[in-house]
Amino acid sequence: MAKRLRENDPEIVKTFTEVYRIPRQKFDALKEPKRMAEYFRNDIKRGMIEIGYSIDWRREFTTIDHLYSRFIQWHFRWLKMHGYITQGTHPVAWCPNDKNPVGTVDTQGDIEPEIGESYLVKFRQEELVYPTATLRPETVFGVTNLWINPEAQYVEARVDNERWIVSLESVATLEHQNHKVRVEREFPGNELLWKTVTNPVTGTIIPILPAEFVEPDNGTGMVMSVPGHAPYDYQALSELKTDPSLPIADRGLVEKIEPIPVITLEGHSKSPASDIVKKYGITSQKDPRLAEATKDLYSKEFRTGVMNENAKQYAGETVDSARKAIVKELADTGKLTKLYEILNKPITCRCGTRVVVHIVDNQWFINYGDPEWKKQAHLCLDQMAILPEERRNEFNYALDWLKERACARKVGLGTRLPWDPDWIIEALSDSVIYMAYYILAKYLVKDWVSFKRFEKSPEDLPDAFFDYIFLGEGSPEAITRETRISKRIIEGIRREFTYFYPVDMRHSAKDLVSNHLSMYIFHHTALFPRNLWPKGIVANGFVLMERAKMSKSLENIIPLRQAIAKFGADPLRIGVLSTAELNQDTDFSESLVATIQERLVNLVAQSRKLGRRRESGKSKPSTLDRWMMSRLNSAAQTATIAMEKLRVREVINTVLYSIENDAAWYQRRLGPRKKQDGRDRVLKQVYDFKARMSAPLAPHVAEEMWASLGNKGMVAKADWPEFDENLHDSTAEAAESIIRQTLDDTAEILRATGLTPKRITYYSAAAWKWRMYQKALDTAVKSQTDQGNFIRDVMSDAELRSIGKPAADFASKAIRQASQMKEELRKSRVGLELKEFKILEDAKDFFSREFKAEIHVGQEGEKRVNDPKDRARSAEPYRPAIFIE
Ligand SMILES: [Zn+2]
Repeated sequence: MAKRLRENDPEIVKTFTEVYRIPRQKFDALKEPKRMAEYFRNDIKRGMIEIGYSIDWRREFTTIDHLYSRFIQWHFRWLKMHGYITQGTHPVAWCPNDKNPVGTVDTQGDIEPEIGESYLVKFRQEELVYPTATLRPETVFGVTNLWINPEAQYVEARVDNERWIVSLESVATLEHQNHKVRVEREFPGNELLWKTVTNPVTGTIIPILPAEFVEPDNGTGMVMSVPGHAPYDYQALSELKTDPSLPIADRGLVEKIEPIPVITLEGHSKSPASDIVKKYGITSQKDPRLAEATKDLYSKEFRTGVMNENAKQYAGETVDSARKAIVKELADTGKLTKLYEILNKPITCRCGTRVVVHIVDNQWFINYGDPEWKKQAHLCLDQMAILPEERRNEFNYALDWLKERACARKVGLGTRLPWDPDWIIEALSDSVIYMAYYILAKYLVKDWVSFKRFEKSPEDLPDAFFDYIFLGEGSPEAITRETRISKRIIEGIRREFTYFYPVDMRHSAKDLVSNHLSMYIFHHTALFPRNLWPKGIVANGFVLMERAKMSKSLENIIPLRQAIAKFGADPLRIGVLSTAELNQDTDFSESLVATIQERLVNLVAQSRKLGRRRESGKSKPSTLDRWMMSRLNSAAQTATIAMEKLRVREVINTVLYSIENDAAWYQRRLGPRKKQDGRDRVLKQVYDFKARMSAPLAPHVAEEMWASLGNKGMVAKADWPEFDENLHDSTAEAAESIIRQTLDDTAEILRATGLTPKRITYYSAAAWKWRMYQKALDTAVKSQTDQGNFIRDVMSDAELRSIGKPAADFASKAIRQASQMKEELRKSRVGLELKEFKILEDAKDFFSREFKAEIHVGQEGEKRVNDPKDRARSAEPYRPAIFIE
């Protein structure tokens, strides 16, 4: 970025002024890479403080600090000594502008380049070689012609010891892959048309024909045409056959070309390519669906295709084995060579240059391909908690997929390879065990103060120092003798390391699973004993902005500090956390954040009000109080379990919404404040829990609540609330559910009838109905749901039999309800002895307030009950009958 800024790159200037709002007069200072890094580091740090992260800043460091470099040198010397580092000539993704290998963190859009092998099959015209790039050399038996792009420029060049014809663009590709190229002549592609070449396998003479789909910067700009099995080739050939501009003399030749089948594919004709082109309804070689059709057919043929008699000696073989054999046969006779390609191209370096494959001689690699090392890494992964668990497969895949990886480059910031200082260790390789370094960083703060007796600079610390601190090898006495750092400090650091290690949970984002996080596992298993291996990883999704990915290199970023200034830290935190679970991307919404802000402001206001009140007396808790405590404790339990799995959205829903709803119901039920109703004691408990549980979510609001409620110290240091299962009160919960149900039913009747009530009478169900209902629940719990049996059984009771038909009717209703009820509800009701009449009686004030009417409560079957319209008989347990006058 510093380089782009120096060059006044308009894109970066725009990003800096419009997104980051950096004043132009600061630009000069940022043109120096270290100052640029420093600027953003400080800005990000201020953002982390402003949003309220609990960070121990004594452990802050950069990866170019001297002591850190020394730590990394120790790390890499250790790796080399134990055989994890190899040197060799391998292909790497490469930026030709920076002359550096390129990884995820270097590309626009943060994409990890994937390198794949293709093959150059050499067609010939006397001593001239026409190399065509292909992923499917086994189809060489079905080649009918070559394709070139007549609009492109081609060259004749000496390549190694041969004379090749290739596109101008592919010269660079070949040079990057260690071919010696000397261009002798450049000419337009149409010069090649209608010339003929010889198939290296079959010896057939075939023509060179024009096709628009051939891209000069792809492979060699020359394609072997297999119209039987390649949708592009089939489509290009069909178009050429009907091309009116084709000279009459050539038309005959083209019309004679027919696809040559070489692979038999079940469910397809002899030309699967024509089948698939027809299936997709493709009519132009520029149709982007051709890529999809090609992928589709290639994978089908690879998995289930069988070579046919045109494939000569390979007839009857699978595609896979024929490919291996033909590659060997052609390579042995110099008719084929490898060509590496970026499979997920195009990829652009942050500097704006297209990424290519480059073969570096004597490059240094970390050998993640080592099978023993892989085994260890898998062992570690198997013991780790992965959140969300759904990502475990991606880790398994990444551990298997990682192979030798270039670990050093020639330019950039970082630590030099200790044994080959021309090379600088790159950013993904020097940051896999830095969590251990946090321990050491603290001792470097205040200018190396802890090591002041060590009179040299950090670079001179011996390996023995690190061996002891991190691996427990050697003795502190020996290190003290060598470094003069006090034994007390050395032992202290070692103690601190073993106190904190292993890492309990490493938090990162899902895009780092295939590189950083997997390498983190690899390196820990290499260096550290098994008891210090990492215990868990959290890989969350992205924050989307208007459903688009936010990324450093795209321009849809709201820098953290700007968002904090606009929305406030806590609303922003909750706004991001509450829209998605871990395995999803969260979509940022400004309007949601505004409603959250309102809710948080209200929490603080409520806490202040409560804090000002004195607790009034010590009344015995009512059923309603017990209900509130029961709800509060089960909410705390739900939130605790969710928090342990980092299902933060559920925690927020519980703490900010469901407890809040219950507290509102509690206050509504109590109505206007009366002396000694005990509500403050209960509400203070509710707010105490809420403040504690909000602390990790909305730390600033939580502290304000905590202090307002009259607590000493910080809520950040207070314990997470402990839920008490003994406070779970099924009777109180059931009682309250009757009140709520009755309230809703009454309101519904009033709405439907438009009545303004003067008097409302509730009738609780007769005692025999409750008995029968309980029996139905018991029966359903034992999953004996034969209605006939149940009715016969209960009706054998003389008292019930005397009631007659109403009893039989209710019995059949009760057993039906009990067996259809959700299991959880059934469990909560079974065996409950509720005094429904009393519950309703106690809520008379409440109902009276709600409906502005006189409330009466009666019981079905009581002699003195006032029941002029005979309503009481429709009462059921949990569902009192209602009579409105
Ligand atoms: Zn670049």
